[in-house]
Amino acid sequence: MTGKPRTLGLLGGGQLGRFIALAARDLGWKTAALDSSPSAPALQVVDTPLVGTVDDVSAARRLAALSDVVTLEWELIPVRILEAVAELRPLFPAPPVLAVIQDRLSQKRFLTKNGLPQTAYGEINDPKDIPCHPIIIKQRRHGYDGKGQARIDGPADRAKAAEILRQPCIWESPVAFQKEISVLFARTHDGETAVYPIAENLHRGGILHATRAPAEIPPGTARKAVELARAAAEALGHVGVMAVEMFLLPDGALLVNEIAPRVHNSGHYTLGACATSQFEQHVRAVCGLPLGPTDAKGPAVMVNLLGDLWAKGEPRWNTLDGVPGLTLHLYGKAEARAGRKMGHYTVAGPTAAEEWRRADERLSALRG
Ligand code: AMP
Repeated sequence: MTGKPRTLGLLGGGQLGRFIALAARDLGWKTAALDSSPSAPALQVVDTPLVGTVDDVSAARRLAALSDVVTLEWELIPVRILEAVAELRPLFPAPPVLAVIQDRLSQKRFLTKNGLPQTAYGEINDPKDIPCHPIIIKQRRHGYDGKGQARIDGPADRAKAAEILRQPCIWESPVAFQKEISVLFARTHDGETAVYPIAENLHRGGILHATRAPAEIPPGTARKAVELARAAAEALGHVGVMAVEMFLLPDGALLVNEIAPRVHNSGHYTLGACATSQFEQHVRAVCGLPLGPTDAKGPAVMVNLLGDLWAKGEPRWNTLDGVPGLTLHLYGKAEARAGRKMGHYTVAGPTAAEEWRRADERLSALRG
């Protein structure tokens, strides 16, 4: 044992990668990241930034060559690139996990095969097949933050559907959920696991708006949600942190919406509010360190700051002065586009419950 620092390589350089890299550094690891943009959030903070597109196999191999372990912060990297990396270095999560997740249809079939409950679904590729009842259509690949999906109420929506159906799609029955929750789950190579307090999520326009934890749900529902997430992680053989998004129905039933095989926006609250952040936990899991405790120091609320907030110029940050328990995180993105995640704030502690109700007021004050 020389004590020479090892290097964690990151495929993708967004904000999730930035937080992973910062956590890795705190654990004494060097970091490298690959992204198509030289100014990507993670490339600003790693020891070795690399620029290359997501389908550039030689750039991915360069990243692998200078890393001891490789992980990712974006699950839509082509499998052939992941396989090229995995030939050179340990890569977590492994390519077969990503292959299941990347295609919504194969993800849904995986859930069915493992007895995990979900809404009714099927394949749809032709606007002529639109039924007379409402469905949600989603492109099988490359959708995120509500992109590439639409609610279709019947044949009258055929034009809207045709736009989405340019790519292979699935349909889902709309779920009249009472709440959306997510379970953040960590698993190591040895099958050691850790789970965080369950998060309750509010989406707007398909994009996460705010999360609070712990979710306001009965203890039996929380236990059931953790069982589902555990079953998904075990069946996938996942290594690292993952999030399982679920719908809670008015009758108490849970349906899995989707699995994110990586750190997740709904787990941002863990940074500051929990003994080990999701980012540190992910580094621990993929780098072969023992998992850390997940206990929360108290209730927490996280609110996303989207590019829209910059419409009239720099937000009025001074309106956040003196808010008890508030921490602001900005991702270092130069261009604030509508819907783009630019940062978030977390309020942890006794004022979190009030903050959950005050999020809109807080955002209006920031907007000025
Ligand atoms: P997704 O990208 O599949 O996670 O969808 C983004 C958001 O759209 C979800 O978090 C829900 O708020 C909503 N949504 C997606 N699918 C459904 C569905 N089948 N029924 C009701 N709402 C949905």
